[in-house]
Amino acid sequence: MNQLVILAILCIIFAAVSLWVSQRLRTDSGIPDGDVVYDDAGSWYEVAKPLFNKELMLTGKPDYVVRAEDGSLIPVEFKSAKAPVQPYDGHVMQLIAYCALVESHFGKRPSHGIIRYDNKSFNIDYTPHLEDELLAVLEEMRFDLEDQDVARSHDAWQRCNGCGFKDVCEESLV
Ligand code: SF4
Repeated sequence: MNQLVILAILCIIFAAVSLWVSQRLRTDSGIPDGDVVYDDAGSWYEVAKPLFNKELMLTGKPDYVVRAEDGSLIPVEFKSAKAPVQPYDGHVMQLIAYCALVESHFGKRPSHGIIRYDNKSFNIDYTPHLEDELLAVLEEMRFDLEDQDVARSHDAWQRCNGCGFKDVCEESLV
């Protein structure tokens, strides 16, 4: 067999193995099969620039956005913690905010988003009900921003422990 033919066959085998490994990695990570459509130059796992929704005056960046096989755009948010029984409300709202940002940025409504905890992923449907909840939360946050005295909205000392305001916050649990 001519050397060029052997080289071509080796290239095809290498491409097939690479594709299989990449599909395996995606399956293991709970990420749907699809192309990355918005990430930074060096990494699959980070979105380079914050997305902005003028109408909602909302900005933020999901860790990752992929195009699923059906063409829908899926934001993925990674959390380093072990998965709770159900995703935390705050994490769901964060993901829904990313769905809204992806929709306005790419002009296409995501069917759902994914929260990927250390050991498990959750698909969260981007429903009109959750969208309404997001609008209500944003309105509440804007209202609170003008208030001088805002009560703590949770009982998780871990959140306070990781908060940059814990040394000055009168509501801090740590
Ligand atoms: S320290 Fe204060 S601002 Fe930070 S998470 Fe705790 S209650 Fe909220």
